[in-house]
Amino acid sequence: MQFCWLPLAFLCLDLVGGQYYGGNSYGSTGGQAIRLGLITDDATDRIRQTFEHAISVVNNELGVPLVGETEQVAYGNSVQAFGQLCRLMQNGVGAVFGPSAKHTASHLLSVCDSKDIPFIYPHLSWSGTQADGFNLHPNPEDIAHVLYDIINEFQWSRYIFCYESAEYLNILDHLMNLYGIKGPVIKVIRYDLNLNGNYKSVLRRIRKSEDNRIVVVGSTEGVAELLRQAQQVGIMNEDYTYVVGNLDLHTFELEEYRYSEVNITGIRMFSPDQEEVRDLVEKLHQELGESEPDGQGSSSITMAMALTYDAVRVIAETTKNLPYEPQMLNCSERHDNVQPDGSTFRNYMRSLEIKENTITGRIFFEGNVRKGFTFDVIELQTTGLVKVGTWEEGKKFEFQRPPQAVTFHDVDDGSLVNKTYRVLISVATKPYASIVESIDTLIGNDQYQGYGVDLIKELAEKLGFNFTFIDGGNDYGSFNKSTNTTTGMLKEIVEGRADLAITDLTITAEREEVIDFSIPFMNLGIAILYVKPQKAPPALFAFMEPFSSEVWLYLGIAYVGVSLCFFILGRLSPTEWDNPYPCIDEPEELENQFTLNNSIWFTTGALLQQGSEIAPKALSTRTISAIWWFFTLIMVSSYTANLAAFLTIENPTSPINSVKDLADNVDDVQYGAKRTGSTRNFFLTSEEPIYIKMNEYMSNNPDMLVENNQEGVEKVKSGTKYAFLMESTSIEYNMVRECNLTKVGDALDEKGYGIAMVKNWPYRDKFNNALLELQEQGVLARLKNKWWNEIGAGVCSAKSEDDGPSELAIDNLSGIYAVLIVGTIISIIVSVLCWCFFVFKKARFYAVPFCGALAEEFKIVIRFSENERVLKSAQSIYSRSRNSSQSIESLQTDSEENTRTED
Ligand code: ASP
Repeated sequence: MQFCWLPLAFLCLDLVGGQYYGGNSYGSTGGQAIRLGLITDDATDRIRQTFEHAISVVNNELGVPLVGETEQVAYGNSVQAFGQLCRLMQNGVGAVFGPSAKHTASHLLSVCDSKDIPFIYPHLSWSGTQADGFNLHPNPEDIAHVLYDIINEFQWSRYIFCYESAEYLNILDHLMNLYGIKGPVIKVIRYDLNLNGNYKSVLRRIRKSEDNRIVVVGSTEGVAELLRQAQQVGIMNEDYTYVVGNLDLHTFELEEYRYSEVNITGIRMFSPDQEEVRDLVEKLHQELGESEPDGQGSSSITMAMALTYDAVRVIAETTKNLPYEPQMLNCSERHDNVQPDGSTFRNYMRSLEIKENTITGRIFFEGNVRKGFTFDVIELQTTGLVKVGTWEEGKKFEFQRPPQAVTFHDVDDGSLVNKTYRVLISVATKPYASIVESIDTLIGNDQYQGYGVDLIKELAEKLGFNFTFIDGGNDYGSFNKSTNTTTGMLKEIVEGRADLAITDLTITAEREEVIDFSIPFMNLGIAILYVKPQKAPPALFAFMEPFSSEVWLYLGIAYVGVSLCFFILGRLSPTEWDNPYPCIDEPEELENQFTLNNSIWFTTGALLQQGSEIAPKALSTRTISAIWWFFTLIMVSSYTANLAAFLTIENPTSPINSVKDLADNVDDVQYGAKRTGSTRNFFLTSEEPIYIKMNEYMSNNPDMLVENNQEGVEKVKSGTKYAFLMESTSIEYNMVRECNLTKVGDALDEKGYGIAMVKNWPYRDKFNNALLELQEQGVLARLKNKWWNEIGAGVCSAKSEDDGPSELAIDNLSGIYAVLIVGTIISIIVSVLCWCFFVFKKARFYAVPFCGALAEEFKIVIRFSENERVLKSAQSIYSRSRNSSQSIESLQTDSEENTRTED
């Protein structure tokens, strides 16, 4: 270390003057107290107040108290400062806080170094190496790093780097190192205090250049003045973006820029809400009579004050662990005495790690350089400076902009008339918005058409506002609570680049946290879009399908049963015993037409609606015939009717009939949804086991997710066994245009689409009222009909087809079976009665016992192989027959037309 100060020392000792701010006087060195010296060039006295306040705070915890001694010097007056330092040393000082003027501070540092007195410098390092004493200020390299990250987030490809003086070129140097060989185009411009505080010529150069993105680094006063003059030059408006690399941006007077729509982003090391900051503000309020903090809270606390406060904290922590008794020293060269424990004390200060009770956060050092701190990235909005992100070394920086609050400044007369809003649409999402296909070149709003476009036009007409459509892409956006980040359209609204968004944007609780929605203009639910069931290949025995197998079985049984009935009843019915040769009056034998063959033939003819030449004559056989004919009439009619339906209407089969089939991957059908959006979110957040399973499937198969609905529809159409989870309104739209697509199953949930708007938008109620009116006037229904069923529709019906005819079950036909059975039984009864009556008459005629005649007749009846019956004389049969020339059969003639003659 060079002792370049020594000649000055002799010159200046007599000039020394200063104030003694002992605060609590603990006596001189050698006692308990440790003196701390503050040499300040701050004319506002606020550094001193902070210094005093910090000492009084730490003294509450210390056994060996600290005593603050302040020397006020003129800015840049090194001689005066040196004198004050000597005075402090003579009294025995433990550490010295230096002034802001760099040359003065540099000079004092040399003196302190030579005397082993810790020198504290609470400003940006002038050397860039942080070798300038004990410095808690983040070094230029870290400042360059945070600027680099912010600029990267902005994705600037070129900008102006505006710096105040040579020491700030350290920051540029580090920036260039970070960019390496490729990086944005940087135009470097210096604004200098040597220009006597008039930066307008520099600013005019900026205005004339093509760049409107400016990074500003410099002293607090210099940057504040530059911004003030930038406004005078006319480059403080929405066209310009400033990134300020000075950590005191929060102390600037920014009120004038709040409504100029200029973008100003900066960094700070502490929040106005911290307890230490509030206490300090309170103290300043009491001591200096400063006004109470405004909404900004910390606006009066500069980095120099914060670092002074924190340095006192570091000294206090050091004295807790390290005994330190500062000695009285002499400035003179003849006295080369040094502070005995000074360097140990300074080294110990750098070895500490302090996490609490500081203003600027965690303190620890790597070598001479402070590390481990975080920066708040702040942005000027209409409400003032708002934290929009946190920068931490080694972590990826991202903006986490909170929703932009709307203040009453923004709300004027509460009317939307003549105001212009930027409305986000998604031009890839038909029918909500799309590009108009035209041979003319269309510009502006004319380029777009769709339901959403029309709806905004209707609302604009009602409320009198103007609008500009902006394509917001396919990502409607989401809000991540844990990282406080938004994406997609949500982000655009939250960050103020758009005012409204209209598309198939679902109202969700998560989105409602950062933006507002209008009342829903459409209701819907998630459903499955899949290809229509395919026609099954015709079955070989398709003609059997109109009847169930049960019906066929009973029909067969009925057919056999009725045929047998005919056969038996025919035999039982005397009338059915007929003269085979009508020309012979008295035939020897009678014939029965109801042989087994004929009976079967008769029922077959009737069943097939063809008839046969067999004509029943007896009451019983006629009865059963009639019943059988009636039965067959109904059966054949039913069969024919159902057969026609079966043959003409396809009965397609689909492997997927519900969401459960989909979850089970029935028939290897795969499925997916739109990659971003509420549908995907539904599965991500659902707690239903089936949806959890589906979510796992989709997460494990990211290629099943698509960018937009149209892509999903194409994927379904491609016939690759892919089902798309889509909102029912969009499914309806596609079903009337793509005839081979259908909706499968019921909706999984119920929700609505709303128009998104910035949080707390003052016109929300007006907007909702207008929307309600449109609903009541049927405008919404008309628009829906126009965009769903008229424009581009009509190709196929949106109605889902029914499942085709189903086979007739036994239940459908049991009545006719009952009729058949009852009719058959009645016929049998009638037949048996008639037969008994005939036998009775015969027995009486021949005067034979009834039972004998019955047995005789029965034998004839059951002789199934014979179809003729020989007419025998009564004598031969019945020995007790008396006198009868009348044949048995003639008896029958009396009662029936057909005659049989007995010998
Ligand atoms: N309507 C959905 C949304 O708002 C998009 C989708 O998931 O289909 O994100």
